[in-house]
Amino acid sequence: MATEPAASPRGPSRDAPGPVIVARDLRKVYVLGGDVEVHALRGLDLDVQHGEYAAIMGPSGSGKSTLLQILGCLDNPTSGSYRLAGEEVAALDEDALSVIRNRRIGFVFQAYNLLGRATALDNVALPLLYRGLPLRERRERALRALERVGLEDRVHHRPNELSGGQKQRVAIARALSTEPDILLADEPTGNLDSATGQEILALFDALHGEGRTILMVTHENEVAEHCERIIRIRDGLVEASEAIARRRRPAAGATPAAVAAPPIAGS
Ligand code: ADP
Repeated sequence: MATEPAASPRGPSRDAPGPVIVARDLRKVYVLGGDVEVHALRGLDLDVQHGEYAAIMGPSGSGKSTLLQILGCLDNPTSGSYRLAGEEVAALDEDALSVIRNRRIGFVFQAYNLLGRATALDNVALPLLYRGLPLRERRERALRALERVGLEDRVHHRPNELSGGQKQRVAIARALSTEPDILLADEPTGNLDSATGQEILALFDALHGEGRTILMVTHENEVAEHCERIIRIRDGLVEASEAIARRRRPAAGATPAAVAAPPIAGS
């Protein structure tokens, strides 16, 4: 009997826009010298959909940082497959990885990792330098990213002239400046007091609302519950993936106007 063709002639939806991250059987073995090996990832599988906002949690030593480094193209797995936006990247060499990283990944770190002697604008523009964009375009795009995080009045400040929350917003603007496929955040509120942490979570919430994909490592349940899903890692494997039925919302007043109402992209 004649049947309808499958919805996608290319078969399973793996190449469709659905997942931005498809990791299969990821393993990472650190060799410490002699015969000592540490099996940090032990065959981990993970899918993350475009536009998802997920937290990664797990005890110390469970493999979260190793996973984040691999997902962020800072390191290769020892074996396994990692398809990022449809492209297999697990076995790429350092140079190829750095190109992918610059094109597809935005990082936000607990300690901000800003250049101390550079202004907010120059910090945000830096990833665009590696793209080879002309100065004027770098500055325009950096300015737009700083506007996006509500810091257009701090563009010429250096990090030591900014509060912790402002530094983290600069770091988020830097991560956004290249229009990455994924934002990877490692304990982004870990150095902040709770009111300032709420501001950063409000910003992530707004970015997620625009359709951005965000993966955030955190050890705080209260932070993780702002996400749509918690991915729990244990002993180098995904132990559980839990949808958050009722997401926490940022505390009232945590959303600066510029963060809630972004300027029109490209304007
Ligand atoms: P987590 O971020 O969850 O604390 P990690 O990914 O940092 O976990 O570590 C997982 C395991 O791998 C731990 O046993 C850790 O000691 C080990 N490990 C991590 N990085 C290295 C490294 N560069 N060299 C050797 N062992 C490492």
